[in-house]
Parts: sequence; C-alpha cells; structure tokens
Amino acid sequence: MPKLTSVYRLDDIESWEEAIAVAGLTIRRGGLVAFPTETVYGLGANALDEAAVAGIFRAKSRPPNDPLIAHIADFQQLSQIAEDAPPIAFEVAQRFWPGPLTLVLKKSKRIPANLTAGLGSVAVRMPSHEVALALIREAGVPIAAPSANLFSRPSPTSAQHVIDDLDGLVDVLLDGGETPIGVESTILSLIDDRPRVLRPGGISLEGLRAVVPDLRFAPSYLRDDAPAAPAPGGLLRHYSPNARVLLFEGADDAQVYTAMRAEIARHERVGVLASDAEAAAFADLNVIVERLGANSEEAAQRLFAALRSLDQRELDVILARAPRKAGLGLAVWDRLLRASVGCLVKV
Ligand code: AMP
Ligand code: MG
Repeated sequence: MPKLTSVYRLDDIESWEEAIAVAGLTIRRGGLVAFPTETVYGLGANALDEAAVAGIFRAKSRPPNDPLIAHIADFQQLSQIAEDAPPIAFEVAQRFWPGPLTLVLKKSKRIPANLTAGLGSVAVRMPSHEVALALIREAGVPIAAPSANLFSRPSPTSAQHVIDDLDGLVDVLLDGGETPIGVESTILSLIDDRPRVLRPGGISLEGLRAVVPDLRFAPSYLRDDAPAAPAPGGLLRHYSPNARVLLFEGADDAQVYTAMRAEIARHERVGVLASDAEAAAFADLNVIVERLGANSEEAAQRLFAALRSLDQRELDVILARAPRKAGLGLAVWDRLLRASVGCLVKV
C-alpha cells in the first residue's frame, strides 16, 4: 500500500496545536516532516538519528555526498551539533539568528556521519519561522533538513510544491502558506583561517560584511582551488527546470533586450523571467512571461514558483536577465546561474 502524507493547514490555534504535536511525535519516532521556514520548505528528520537522516536522502533521491543543514531552536542546542565554535560564530549568530544564515563549524561527535556526508564540519542554523521553531521545540531534538524538493528541482516555497515533488514520500506536511524570503539561507563557513560565504542567500553579503569585514565570497563554482569533483553541495547543476535556461548579462538595457529577442526568434515555445520593469520589452512577443516583481526581495520570493510554473508549460527554453548582484539580487543571480547550468550569455 502506498504511504499517505498527512497534510495539516495551520489556520487556527486548534489545528496548530494538533499539527505541531503530531509532527513533533513523528520526528521523535524517526519519521519525516516537511515544514515551512522563512527561506523555503524543509524536509526534516531527527538530526541525531542516523536512520531517520538516511530517510531524507532516500525521499529526495539526494546523493549521499551532499550534506544537510541541522536546525536548532535555541543556543543550548548548538553544543549538540558543533564543537570549538570560534568567537566570530557567536558574534554573527547573536546578530543574525534566528534568521536565514547557516554556519559551517566543526562537527560534534553526536552528529551521525550521513548528515554531514562524512565531513568533519557541520552546517547549522536557527530559523526564524514560528512553525519551524515550534516544531523543533516540540520534537526536543535538532532537526536535519534540506529543502523539501526532489534533488535538483527548484526549491519549494509553498506546500503545493512539496506535494508536487514528495507526496507519499513524507509522513507529515505542515502547510504554513508561502515562505516569505523564497531563497535558501546564506552559508558562511567558519572552519578556515578566513570566513567564506559558500552560498549567497537570505542574508545579504553587505549585511554580513558589517559584522565580518574579512569575508570572502567563495561558492565552489568560483574557487580556483576547486577540486576535480565539485565540493559537497556545490554542484553547479541545481534548481533546474526541464527546459534549458539561458541567462543574459550586460549593462546596456537595449543591447540585452535585443540579444534576448533574437534568441526568442529561434525557438517555438519560450518562457521569460522578467522584473516588472523588464516585462514591457517582451510584451509584443508570443512568449510566456513570469513576472518577478519590482525589486530583489520580490524576485527572491517569486523565483522558484516562477521556474516551477514555466516548467509545466513544456517550453523549449527559458530566458532571464541576470539581476544586479546587490542585496538579495546576488542569491537570485546564483540560483539563476545554477538553473542555467552556467549558460551565461554576455552581451
Ligand atoms: P539545502 O538545504 O538543500 O540547500 O542543502 C544544504 C546545503 O548546505 C548543501 O547543499 C551544502 O551546500 C551546504 N552544506 C551543508 N553542510 C555543509 C558542510 N559541512 N560544508 C559545506 N557546505 C555544507
Ligand atoms: Mg536544496
């Protein structure tokens, strides 16, 4: 018999209490719970239970060399996850937790090896979403959770996206509506001499630099010392829709739009991801435009839903203009680059 996913909508106090109680029990018994965070939906299991963590990799078809993030609800739980955290870790945590910042630290011995893909370091964050915090507290253990999508698909920003990918593969889904930030956390590694941002995300680089002045932006696809095999989780191919994504980059609006229009003319079924301001440049063409709003916060919030929506239209190609790499724009740029598997057209 196929397993069923129990879906709880967190509309009122009564449904909330029952849902959190069932979900917390499910985690304690080694099951899987999908839940909203302020970034995207997570697929959670008891971070201290190796078999439960293995269930996450199975449900997502995630390769075992891609480590997970452990989620905590208070500072005491940090000692179950990490050891020898340097002083800078506490400074950034004080400033940005709860919130969309993940720290990579030396791993505690209590953490099962599969959670960290065998690495000596571990990724940890304290989310700010009230459902995520209530779930971790109710479960009484840290919760390991990657994004609740099938491996390499766009991350889920609504309960429907989780159902589309994982119905029957997860025990409980907590439906808390759309996630407010829409892109994953910023990952800051504090295990080397110099702090390194491995993935841009919900906390801007500018904001982090105010606390960590010697920060380096070093996602694995930009590192010159990148090993032959990509670093764990640094795979360029990610967030990919089925259609090919082409990313256009250039300073001159008119030149970029001309290049994009020429590309559109080469295909039958074309989707375009465009900000409100850019959409007008394609209004006279037979293309499907998904609007990403007026600024980088709106673009981050809408990006994955827009990619999923275009994906259902059986398109030949999806075009987007690379956003400015400021604020949340850097995270949007990173996700688009990875959705395009590096297909960057410089204009
Ligand atoms: P997801 O929650 O799906 O975005 O996946 C978590 C991501 O965290 C992984 O893909 C890695 O990029 C990153 N990560 C987790 N643990 C580590 C670690 N120990 N070192 C470096 N990156 C990590
Ligand atoms: Mg993910």
